[in-house]
Amino acid sequence: MATLHPRVQAAFEAAKGFMPLDEGLALHAAATDAAARLPGLPLLEVGTYCGRSTILLAAAARAARAAGTATGTVAVTVDHHRGSEEQQPGWEYHDKDLVDPEVGLMDTLPTFRRTLHAAGFEDDVIAIAGRSPQVAAAWGKPLALVFIDGGHTDEHATADYEGWAPHVAPDGVLVVHDVFPDPADGGQAPYRVYRRALDSGAFTEVSVTRSLRVLRRTGEGI
Ligand code: SAH
Ligand code: MG
Repeated sequence: MATLHPRVQAAFEAAKGFMPLDEGLALHAAATDAAARLPGLPLLEVGTYCGRSTILLAAAARAARAAGTATGTVAVTVDHHRGSEEQQPGWEYHDKDLVDPEVGLMDTLPTFRRTLHAAGFEDDVIAIAGRSPQVAAAWGKPLALVFIDGGHTDEHATADYEGWAPHVAPDGVLVVHDVFPDPADGGQAPYRVYRRALDSGAFTEVSVTRSLRVLRRTGEGI
């Protein structure tokens, strides 16, 4: 497994977010592998939040560029920055420090930018503020990796899969977070997306690290 530079790990651990270290290391390993095998194709994340997992894709993109094997590899991260359902006021994952007092809505973009600045990865990431399905519809380039960690309702998770999975390049990687086969452990929408990817015949499982599932595109369609 590719190791994380201590400075990168410190920035990751200092960032607000929902990615534990063991799953983060698996994501970083998947991104490092995808960037090396598919030089120059972006690594894309759905669900930036405050940039905790973005740091890992950025580190992989930078390492690939530094190795000289992947000129142009960059991390792209997509979020409307207004938070998911469970992050709204009154819900389990709400953080009142992330509300824009002027607008009265969640705004994770300023915190995300501070995370990226502190980690030293501003030149390795393209941040897109927008709704995932709209961005996916406007997107036109094959991707080395798609990491789905956006909205966890069936509506959002399904739209993320249908919007982004077609953009995964042959031999590219699809990573899904918060996959819980047992409903007692968490919501089922990411699990259903993961099942659908496997059942499509287009993706094969590469690794399982608790709720983080890494798949590789080995077939056509989605
Ligand atoms: N990857 C982050 C956590 C992401 S939380 C980490 O490791 O910490 C989920 C994020 O998805 C939230 O910031 C929310 O605003 C975003 N999101 C939810 N639905 C979305 C949609 N349809 N389009 C864009 N972003 C969405
Ligand atoms: Mg998650």
